[in-house]
Amino acid sequence: MKNPHFNPQRPHHRPDGFQNTYLSFRGKKWHEILRWRWQAWRAGHPRAITEPIPVVAPDLSFIHANARAGRGMRPAATWIGHITVLLQVGGLNVLTDPVFSERCFPVQWAGPKRHTPPGLTLSQLPRIDVVLLSHNHYDHLDEGSMRALARQAGGAPLVICPLGHKAWFARRGMHRVVELDWWETHVLAANSLHPAHARIPVTLTPAQHWSARTATDALRSLWGGFAVLSPDCHVFFAGDTGYSKDFADIRQHFAREHTPDQGGGFDLALLPIGAYEPRWFMKDQHCNPEESVQIFQDLGCKRALSVHWGTFQLTDEALDEPPRALDRALKAQGMNRQQFCVAAVGETLRLERRTASASQRA
Ligand code: ZN
Ligand code: ZN
Repeated sequence: MKNPHFNPQRPHHRPDGFQNTYLSFRGKKWHEILRWRWQAWRAGHPRAITEPIPVVAPDLSFIHANARAGRGMRPAATWIGHITVLLQVGGLNVLTDPVFSERCFPVQWAGPKRHTPPGLTLSQLPRIDVVLLSHNHYDHLDEGSMRALARQAGGAPLVICPLGHKAWFARRGMHRVVELDWWETHVLAANSLHPAHARIPVTLTPAQHWSARTATDALRSLWGGFAVLSPDCHVFFAGDTGYSKDFADIRQHFAREHTPDQGGGFDLALLPIGAYEPRWFMKDQHCNPEESVQIFQDLGCKRALSVHWGTFQLTDEALDEPPRALDRALKAQGMNRQQFCVAAVGETLRLERRTASASQRA
């Protein structure tokens, strides 16, 4: 099947799909998948969980008051679980990769089952203005959640996603969808309650990963992360990614917006820390905590929130291992959890606004 977006000028485009910048992803062969599963079975993997995944009751009164605060919105990020985060920035309520279903699989009677329920249920969410979708893997693009959001009171959210997803949404009657190529920007009109923030550019950034929804559509749709330059808070959402030089490129790309007098680098990065073992199988597509810390440093961001862990058992490491590995990696770099946070499911991280001078200039 041909890639209708194919542009030979763009290095990550292929006539039949897309590729990474620094590593050509090839689908794992059957014998490699069998080797992984066989080795995991012999070794008794996934390793057992030894500590409970931290969970707190969400601060619904803060979240809902903040959702309606318009100009007075305090930048905040609430971890709902796995890679789903409610971002409240620029007067807008934004969800990353919404996954509220019991399983992340083509059917709901098989496949990885949630270990922890979502920190907020769909009915506890404020009205969502925007969904940022990183790619089409089942632990990121969840049909049940998308359908529920499309039916929310007040109308469907705007979905911003990489190239190649519009048709999937259109087949399900969802048409408020903007597709972006890497480095393309969609400018959000700010919430009418928030006139001070007239424009919020959202840019799709490269990630080292891949895509597949069925046995025959690998690499057909694009994958990526997002930079949301809201004047009150610059947020980076990595999506799923292996470690690569893409993050140094991203820092370079936004260098003009991130000078010290404009408030510096990203105020918050949502970085994956889970689903990384065994390394021989996962390294190309999922970073481990040590590499996440390197991504933090490559981006030059101020703070990070750990995501993509503690919810679905996708790989061999124990579900509760990523924060321990993160602590070791942070210690080795003289960093701490103040900078690279590990939140409880349901917990809200309240952030400082970017400096006033940055807001005026942006
Ligand atoms: Zn993925
Ligand atoms: Zn994933």
